[in-house]
Amino acid sequence: MARYTANLNFFRTLNDTSRTAYDYQLRLKEARVLLLGLGGIGSNVCLALAELGVGHVFAVDFDQVELSNLNRQVLYSTSAVGQPKAQVATERVARFNPDISFEALRVRISGRADVEVLLARVQPDFVFCLADKPNGWIDFWVNDACVTYGVPVAAANIMAAVGTAYTTVPGRTACFQCRVDADVVGNPDLAEELAYIREHELNVSNGALGPACMFLGYFLSYEFLRHRLELGSMLTDDRLFEIDFMDFSQRYHTFPRRADCSSCGSARDTVAAQVTVDQG
Ligand SMILES: [Zn+2]
Repeated sequence: MARYTANLNFFRTLNDTSRTAYDYQLRLKEARVLLLGLGGIGSNVCLALAELGVGHVFAVDFDQVELSNLNRQVLYSTSAVGQPKAQVATERVARFNPDISFEALRVRISGRADVEVLLARVQPDFVFCLADKPNGWIDFWVNDACVTYGVPVAAANIMAAVGTAYTTVPGRTACFQCRVDADVVGNPDLAEELAYIREHELNVSNGALGPACMFLGYFLSYEFLRHRLELGSMLTDDRLFEIDFMDFSQRYHTFPRRADCSSCGSARDTVAAQVTVDQG
């Protein structure tokens, strides 16, 4: 309780007569979170979850620590260069907060089925998609699997000075595929761009600075808090958040759920319903 004194003080300021401060902390302790990617933003989310006292965190990353990661990936020290991120993160979190359960797997995600295996194994309440490889695929696989399993997912990206973040609550808010489909309608070149990225396994150097990763990591962590503790709607419900780090100007781009979305649309629901009926 001493560790979470400030958390409890914060929860008391919410003046919720139906729940005590301890109820809120317990809700965090009981949460199961799957964190895909322990890079720049993922490092910050990982530490935020450990600070908050989220009880069960499962992280996945295949990479080893490189010297060039250390401008932004706060989980790692210079002495960790060459070691698997999953292993170093496990040791770091165990030292930082031994009261939570933290497990990191060195797994390469190479298809939607890999995401499904993780969801089935971890049974998460919430997923952070902060892995960037393979570029042009992973966001789609994670979105589709999370929509199928009904698990909320939060994600963020950085391209130099511009950061973006979004979330999906399956069955309630627009999903990643809804936004891509809407973008493609407005700009048909995007479909060609995506095909090119996939075909050439393009990994654009993102130029991400440490403070930008920290900002988005903590932005997403607050989104998780709003959702998990029912503190109100997430800021990114049906909206893409965008920040220009040069002047900190911020915008929200609204993108409604699409009835014809190939991931969460009614066509998909019909297919799922038919499968259920056939099996029944
Ligand atoms: Zn959708």
